[in-house]
Amino acid sequence: MEKRRARIPVKESFDVYSLPVPVGAVLTDRDALARNNNTYGLLPLFYVDYAFNCRDCGCAQIWTGKQQKWWYEIMQGNINSVAIRCRPCRKAEQQRKKLAREAHLNGLAAKHKQ
Ligand SMILES: [Zn+2]
Repeated sequence: MEKRRARIPVKESFDVYSLPVPVGAVLTDRDALARNNNTYGLLPLFYVDYAFNCRDCGCAQIWTGKQQKWWYEIMQGNINSVAIRCRPCRKAEQQRKKLAREAHLNGLAAKHKQ
């Protein structure tokens, strides 16, 4: 048994954190991300610019690595969330939600007054 065990090659341990980082990538702060632990996989090692089209107006947008770092690490945004709207559409959507919430709360207040 000992001899047989000796013949089995030892698997080299693989450290993902030793991999080279792409040019222009923004490194993650693993401690800041650790609080953001609603992920099933490994936490990202770095952020790279993410190209997308705005959901509302369809314009081409770049979500930069720096913006991603701010979103995930400082704002503690959900690790599975990504940018979907350009800035003007995001502002319009926030305004729309605000008005809808106000209308809802006013309706509730009117209902309970009776
Ligand atoms: Zn847009």
